[in-house]
Amino acid sequence: MSYQGTYIEINLKNLKSNIDFLKKHLNPNTKIMCVVKAFAYGADPITISNFFQKSNIDYLAVAYTSEGVELRSSGIELPILVLHPQFDDFDLIDKYNLEPNIYSFRILKNFLSKSYKVPFHLKFNTGLNRLGFKINDVEKLYQFLGENSNIKYLFSHLGASDDLNEKSHTIDQIELFELISKKMNTMFSKVFKKHLLNTSGILNYSDYQYDMVRTGIGVYGYGNDSVYKEKFKPVLSLKSVISQIHEVKKGDSVGYNRGFIAEKKHKIAIIPIGHADGISRNLGQGKISFYINNQKAKTVGNICMDMLMLDVSGIKCEEGDLVIIMDEYNQTAEDIGDVAGTISYEILTALSSRIKRIIIDA
Ligand SMILES: *Cc1c(COP(=O)(O)O)cnc(C)c1O
Repeated sequence: MSYQGTYIEINLKNLKSNIDFLKKHLNPNTKIMCVVKAFAYGADPITISNFFQKSNIDYLAVAYTSEGVELRSSGIELPILVLHPQFDDFDLIDKYNLEPNIYSFRILKNFLSKSYKVPFHLKFNTGLNRLGFKINDVEKLYQFLGENSNIKYLFSHLGASDDLNEKSHTIDQIELFELISKKMNTMFSKVFKKHLLNTSGILNYSDYQYDMVRTGIGVYGYGNDSVYKEKFKPVLSLKSVISQIHEVKKGDSVGYNRGFIAEKKHKIAIIPIGHADGISRNLGQGKISFYINNQKAKTVGNICMDMLMLDVSGIKCEEGDLVIIMDEYNQTAEDIGDVAGTISYEILTALSSRIKRIIIDA
């Protein structure tokens, strides 16, 4: 078989299996919000969101309003939380029936000035020091909102739920969130629903699942901890093809800036994927290998924008052969992240939307 270009396989069976694994940590009535920001962690937001909608997932979350608009325009009907709306987004949020995160008085004032009716989620900063109100803002929030506001959930975000050496910091965050919730309930004379846990929060602090959890990386098959390597199944595989093979002799160079100079004869394979597709230029110069016919071939020279070169000296292969860059069997996004000095999240979300996505549904 001759393969056509670079492609990403999205394995829906693995997606389902990851949801089922996460559910083992949850009470049957805890709602699940799946995070589909950043092109669904590289996987393709429309396909993935449609799948979640069919799989009885309760909620979706995106980072930016434009991501939510795209989902609505593709017919997604689940409630969608916009985690990081900008000051002027509320006309779109209202029009597309999205639910904003309200995280500052600047945003709140603009939201209230036009009397939008959409429900919203109120975010509190409990120690991550990114977005959110502080506990001391509760009185002022009451002055702005009064008892009849459309607050649907209170929420916060943990900064180190994946790091058990930072357990006391996480417990501090949880305790502060509980305190804030109590203060909000007293101030507004009602019991607000709330959500706090991300994937590692679900795995390590499931007692605090409250009414809903927010999972991203877990559903895509990564658990931030080797303990979970067996349990989660990477959803996304990245594969390519050998476009051309040629031989270089001693003294010849390969690629830009003569990044590799041969000291003997080498067989070089050209692969149609580059740093514009999400393969960091730092992975050139032999730092990583990809898999061809179950053999490992190292990068050669500098990775270009749209292609890279592999040393296939001594490797049985021909033009048109499959190249496996990442999958659940050979090397995962986490493995590549280890080599690149980053995390699975960055490897996945760096994958360009120009790469063709293929759905595997069996
Ligand atoms: C991205 C994000 C998540 C998802 O985190 P994972 O570690 O991928 O599960 C949850 N909550 C917020 C606020 C986020 O920004």
